[in-house]
Amino acid sequence: MTKLKIIKYPDPFLKQKCLPVTSYDKELKIFAEDMLKIMYESKGIGLSAIQVGVLKRVIVIDISEELKKPLILVNPVINPSSSKFLDFKEGCLSFPGIYESVRRNEEIALDYNSIEGKKLSMKATGLLSICIQHEVDHLEGIVFLDRLSGLKRNRAEKKFLKNLSK
Ligand code: ZN
Repeated sequence: MTKLKIIKYPDPFLKQKCLPVTSYDKELKIFAEDMLKIMYESKGIGLSAIQVGVLKRVIVIDISEELKKPLILVNPVINPSSSKFLDFKEGCLSFPGIYESVRRNEEIALDYNSIEGKKLSMKATGLLSICIQHEVDHLEGIVFLDRLSGLKRNRAEKKFLKNLSK
């Protein structure tokens, strides 16, 4: 088992676009398990492959209270399914210590593949919907601060970078 390391902002690695997964082999399974492990260790509720240095369209999530309901989503594609929005104070393992309110779709429909490569779809609302949107953004090289207005973004970024240099 490889010990993964979480890449922190402002590492430019996080700005890249991830590539679709094409082979559903044992290596992929082990990688997803390693991602879950470091996500739990870091007390996060979601993690995308790019955050551990791998440009693959894989995300892991667990929003359950007992942290026993891991969700592994491969090649996820989001379709917003309502025009309602939700503001939620988000954090990110690549931005330790800052939390900012981001507006996202309240409800989404999601097409994805399982870790075995089976085509699946699901609907998500509330926290799960927010979390999936946050993680899928990472796969496009988008971080949650990019979803803030210019002024708020600058302020949050300054605050984060100041904390980093302490
Ligand atoms: Zn994040």
